[in-house]
Amino acid sequence: MITPSFFVLESRRFFFAALGFGATWLLTEDVTLSLTVLAAALAASWGWQLAKLYRWFAQPEELPPIGGSGVRGILHDVYVLRSRESQPGARSVRTQPYLKDSLASMRDAALIINSDGRLVWCNDAAEYLLSIRFEEEEGKPLSDVAPGKSLKRYMRDENFQKPLRVKPGPDPEFCLQFEFSRFGANDRLVFVKDVTEQDKLERMRRDFVGNVSHELRTPLTVIKGYIETLQSLADESDTTLRKSLGSMDTQVSRMERLISDLLWLSRIESVEGERKDDEIDMVALLSDVQEGLLAAWPNREIRLNVSTDQRILGSAIELRSAIDNLLVNALKYSEGPVTLSWAETVVGPALAVEDTGPGIESKHIPRLTERFYRVDKSRSQATGGTGLGLAIVKHVAVSHEAKLFVDSEVGKGSCFRLVFPNDRVSMPLDGAHAPSMTI
Ligand code: ADP
Repeated sequence: MITPSFFVLESRRFFFAALGFGATWLLTEDVTLSLTVLAAALAASWGWQLAKLYRWFAQPEELPPIGGSGVRGILHDVYVLRSRESQPGARSVRTQPYLKDSLASMRDAALIINSDGRLVWCNDAAEYLLSIRFEEEEGKPLSDVAPGKSLKRYMRDENFQKPLRVKPGPDPEFCLQFEFSRFGANDRLVFVKDVTEQDKLERMRRDFVGNVSHELRTPLTVIKGYIETLQSLADESDTTLRKSLGSMDTQVSRMERLISDLLWLSRIESVEGERKDDEIDMVALLSDVQEGLLAAWPNREIRLNVSTDQRILGSAIELRSAIDNLLVNALKYSEGPVTLSWAETVVGPALAVEDTGPGIESKHIPRLTERFYRVDKSRSQATGGTGLGLAIVKHVAVSHEAKLFVDSEVGKGSCFRLVFPNDRVSMPLDGAHAPSMTI
């Protein structure tokens, strides 16, 4: 970048102005007139430059118009800075040819998009995979190049922690996975993979678990029926037989719960990518769940703390199952009152289930949502737990772009919080908020 002093930059202009001054003085021998000519020449020249400068600012794509003086250097630098800002991708690619070369020879599809999400560059593999020609697509938004509503939303949200799977159609099986990473000043490097086979295998696994669970239901119902018949026929005095039948009944009931949770989990997984947009009256839903559980646990206290009437867009049946699982856990693992709350936070509305139970050691918290992970196995089984409750909650959270937070202190209690993003909020028309209340 050029940073010489003002007098050096303007030396040529001063030189010509001095020449004009000298010529006028030689001709007229009038110092005042010569000085006036000198000042007028400098003012006219700078004014002319200033006018051009303003015109250039209005049309930044053009080259700086002023030549013939050192100011051109400064303007050139300003121009380079401005173009770097408006076309960061192009500049990054140009200034990092080695990167471009290595990406070009990759077998994986790679694209570079700028801060506006527009295509700046892509390699041959990307052209092949997306069936595009770079010359035709250059500068277009990536969501037009590889269409998909979810891709648009994903790019808008700028949360690139998890890769995104898109089925761009018309082939319903064809599945692409997009992985974004930041690159250069404001660009994104995007890797695209064909994950059709992987997606198919995952779907087959889900279907298999779903089908097996479904198939197990009928024989279990039959076994349960026989156990009930045997229980009614068993002699009151035959305590050994009665105990065995009682234990069989408990295990069959446990298997039924397990199957129903597995089926539900596989159903939630199979619709995970789908947008859930029903307007949910959370206050009504929470009090409904509270009522249902109070009927099953009549001796327990479930407090409902509502400080907002914000409705959210989602799936009522999934949200109900998540709230239900959290509340049942709180009731199962604690003895005191349980608080269910719905409140606004800076990042979005939050649902919280708080208990005063035994709490959970922090080393277990990251693994709680794994299937069949239990902190205290015997307690979970004694309370009829399947080990799938929090896995269900996690899936519901993911499909609603919500985050699950767990705060727990051993001996004091736990708080499970689902925080929904603000763009899932569907505000009432008058924007009125319910007063804070505890039910
Ligand atoms: P489970 O059916 O065993 O309750 P979950 O997936 O719902 O399975 O929970 C996983 C484990 O997390 C439980 O086994 C339990 O050890 C622990 N846990 C869940 N909720 C609570 C809670 N409110 N207080 C203490 N521990 C909990």
